[in-house]
Amino acid sequence: MAENTERADAFPFIGGCLCLDFANTVRWHASDHPGERLIDFSHLVRWSRSAGILPEKEANRLARSAAVHSARASAALSRAVKAREAMYRVFAAIAHGRRPDKADLDGFNKTLAESLARSRICPTEVGFAWQWAGAEDAWDIVLWHILWSAAELLTSKAMRRIGQCADDRGCGWLFLDISRSHSRRWCEMKDCGNRAKARGFHARARAATAS
Ligand SMILES: [Zn+2]
Repeated sequence: MAENTERADAFPFIGGCLCLDFANTVRWHASDHPGERLIDFSHLVRWSRSAGILPEKEANRLARSAAVHSARASAALSRAVKAREAMYRVFAAIAHGRRPDKADLDGFNKTLAESLARSRICPTEVGFAWQWAGAEDAWDIVLWHILWSAAELLTSKAMRRIGQCADDRGCGWLFLDISRSHSRRWCEMKDCGNRAKARGFHARARAATAS
């Protein structure tokens, strides 16, 4: 995880999958001092723009609605963050070969069922597409995209490639390991990977001096 180089307004997209990138909207996610990046609803809208989920027009409309209906926006953000944390725990368990907690899966399925109830197949110029019913009340539309991404990942072969950064200070970021040798260990080599390498070098140097 970038400590010094990360811009305050930039979100990381190192996960290789929408739902994993969403799970990574917390710094030091596996530590006892996690840093929330989604402080208010506008951050969620901004993340969705960076992730390419919402077209600019729709993102702007959502941002304008949030400015008028702050309580509803804040409730939608809470739902997204709660779902994110359940997904994070499920993915982290899978990354370490553990069975996910039943309560987390139940919570995920409940939210997924609610989003399915709002899903529609609508005609487009070239065929049909999934759409969210009731655009005027689409507070959870970003979460809806993320839930679908998570459901697709969990039911695909790629599920076995979910990994978590091996940083021992609690980076906790998740990724899809698409390396041929299944050997990806770090969120980013230039951050956690290099820090671990430097610590290993200093430890070996100290040991050599002591002996
Ligand atoms: Zn990391």
